[in-house]
Amino acid sequence: MIQVNDIMQRSQAAFTQYHQTSPEQRARFLENIGEQLEAGREELTAKAHAETHLPMPRLNGELSRTINQLKMFARLLQEGSWVDAAIDTADAGRTPPKPDTRRMLMPVGPVVVFGASNFPFAFSTAGGDTASALASGSTVVVKGHSAHAGTSSLVFAAIQAAIAHSGMPAHTVQHVLGAGNTVGRELVMHPHTTGVGFTGSLNGGTALVHYAAERERPIPVFAEMSSINPVVLLPDTLRQNAFALAKTYAASITLGMGQFCTNPGLLVAVESEALEVFLQQLGEEISAVQPQEMLHEGILSNYSEGLHTMLQQQGIRHIFKSDVMPSPALARVSAAGFLSTPHFREEVFGPFSLAVVCRDKTEMKQVLESVKGQLTATIMGTDADLAAHRDIIALQTSLAGRVIINDVPTGVEVCSSMVHGGPYPATTDARFTSVGTGAIRRWVRPVCFQGFPDALLPPELQNANPRKIWRLWNNEWKNT
Ligand code: NAP
Repeated sequence: MIQVNDIMQRSQAAFTQYHQTSPEQRARFLENIGEQLEAGREELTAKAHAETHLPMPRLNGELSRTINQLKMFARLLQEGSWVDAAIDTADAGRTPPKPDTRRMLMPVGPVVVFGASNFPFAFSTAGGDTASALASGSTVVVKGHSAHAGTSSLVFAAIQAAIAHSGMPAHTVQHVLGAGNTVGRELVMHPHTTGVGFTGSLNGGTALVHYAAERERPIPVFAEMSSINPVVLLPDTLRQNAFALAKTYAASITLGMGQFCTNPGLLVAVESEALEVFLQQLGEEISAVQPQEMLHEGILSNYSEGLHTMLQQQGIRHIFKSDVMPSPALARVSAAGFLSTPHFREEVFGPFSLAVVCRDKTEMKQVLESVKGQLTATIMGTDADLAAHRDIIALQTSLAGRVIINDVPTGVEVCSSMVHGGPYPATTDARFTSVGTGAIRRWVRPVCFQGFPDALLPPELQNANPRKIWRLWNNEWKNT
């Protein structure tokens, strides 16, 4: 029987020590987690392959990405400016006298991370949520995903080795396996929990938000949940590039059996001969893709049922589908049909895309105005197209955390400018990202120190700051 209270007590106790470690110590710790993962690469990828059916090249790539994420946060800590320090020195001569106030970002406390099923490394036990929380100085309790429990346990063992090697408090990271609606709920509800990271279904994310709201002291839940990632195909590019676009989008829709939150689930275009050529070619390309096993039984049955329900909606016509599941699928609907049936805006998680055929640009705008918040929104167009569709680009920008021109939405670069987030239901809080260095901001809060003697200030705010970071000093940026 899992004692959630004991786990959270230990996490809180570890936090009182861990948040006092120096940025350099935490950087070395994160790097060492990466080194431990690298050392276990063969065993880790073999276990993940057995549990998730994901191909080995993909798993090797994902593990490398995970290690690079850890290194990226280590570099962030070494550079230091992420603490967003601001210093206003005292002015006793002012009326009223101006106090000395200094602000920086501080870690929130124990954080609960729910591992995602579709990224057994990069969004799971040592993934971006864990790496960003550890970088901030917060401790972490991971609720591993049951679909890759063995992989999750092996990754946790690598983290434990890094904890011992780096001399970090023993319970800086803890690992729990168990049902979400029992153990997961208890973790979210525990008074020591200060924040939650989640990637998964809308139902799961919504349940966590409700648990958090029921608490005596509500906490933020950063949940990434549901997105159909609309792609607008403009007329000139369709005329010029129908075949190439079909190839590119068939690959994106079917990549990893569509089990990506950035999968292009909605294609929007104005009717034309070129669009018909594109859709026919896209159907052919998709039908030629060799299906792979999906991540777990639940995702397969959700995909099969979701597709079945979608294809039963009024006005929909399939372009390609197979009776043997799992298989990619492509369907079409008129803009009028799309607008009259809210179900068309729902995510079918898997290799499925719905093409919405509009009579004109006005209908295209109505379609885009009707869709919910998204992780990504894409515009495919020639220079002439883009110049004539500024309004469409503006509409797409209002929908999503990442707006893309002439590329596919799948494939998220891990970097400081990345936004992997977006308005609800893509996430619960569009102000944040779960990928890139910005992800650290979910686990911090600003603290202002007023009238503190220099020696009692955090090193980042001291006059004799040994670390060279840019700071806002009386409204002027200075490298101190
Ligand atoms: P999920 O069902 O949302 O599960 C994710 C995690 O949340 C698991 O650890 C699960 O625990 C927990 N959980 C689920 N419901 C909960 C509840 N009511 N209370 C507390 N914890 C709960 O997601 P999944 O298993 O990865 O995939 C199922 C579906 O989610 C897919 O078919 C797809 O529709 C969607 N999905 C979306 C994305 C995305 O990025 N948008 C990614 C993956 C999946 P258990 O271990 O008990 O299940």
